[in-house]
Amino acid sequence: MLQKPEKSIPLFDCKTTQEVIGQQRFLDAFTKVLNHGGYCQGPETKELDKALAEYSGTKYCATCGSGTDALTLALMAWGIGAGDAVFVSSFTFVSSAECAALIGATPIFIDSDPETYNMDPADLQRAIDEVKKEGKLTPKVVIPVDIFGSPCDYDAILKIAHDNGLKVLADSCQSYGSSYKGRKAGSYGDMSATSFYPTKPLGGYGDGGAAFCNTEEENALLQSCRVHGMSHEDHYDNVRLGLTGRMNTFQASVLLLKLTVFDNELE
Ligand SMILES: *Cc1c(COP(=O)(O)O)cnc(C)c1O
Repeated sequence: MLQKPEKSIPLFDCKTTQEVIGQQRFLDAFTKVLNHGGYCQGPETKELDKALAEYSGTKYCATCGSGTDALTLALMAWGIGAGDAVFVSSFTFVSSAECAALIGATPIFIDSDPETYNMDPADLQRAIDEVKKEGKLTPKVVIPVDIFGSPCDYDAILKIAHDNGLKVLADSCQSYGSSYKGRKAGSYGDMSATSFYPTKPLGGYGDGGAAFCNTEEENALLQSCRVHGMSHEDHYDNVRLGLTGRMNTFQASVLLLKLTVFDNELE
């Protein structure tokens, strides 16, 4: 019979950090948002963009409504759509593949490594070859997922993807705070996505997410797609399709506070 451990560590815990940071600091932050009134994508979200880009070691970060939004926005920024093949880990949460299907692309599932449960690079090469041979879809993007917070074999995956003309969108929704060969989650792929759903490593008090990139062009496209494909000159000149992908400013104020204790929490 299984013995009950003396002290069980809960899978996630939203309460302890509130005690560590102090509830009053959250209330002060909320009062600030109440007073300035920029509730959607307000000043705290811009501050969070900067803080997360710095934490991850990327040039840009676009905070948004959820991890699913972040994945979808990255695919939209690359212009992925019908007729495109998106190669995705098969052992994952549904939205790693849902983001591709939502914009009309075709998810192709890649087998898992039996040790890590992450994407098996050898099976990725096999699947790309098969799709090319079939000639029906155009191979475009690989979405490796850092399942349970453990980073994928990015050296192998990036090489296979780039040798075949594909881009890598790292689904780091479960691995924010992890590192791989001196790099931090957020910087693993050509673009990367993470989630701030309460159960994730950097968990907010509601939905939230972020997409990370390193080029000005990709950043501009993420920004545009996040707000209904607006142009940069005129808010109501919608030059492409997009989402209602803005982050709630209250959420950004929570995440800014939680980021100050994040490394301790990981420890
Ligand atoms: C949670 C999660 C997502 C989606 O994040 P949401 O913020 O819930 O939209 C995507 N991929 C993986 C692997 C996840 O664990």
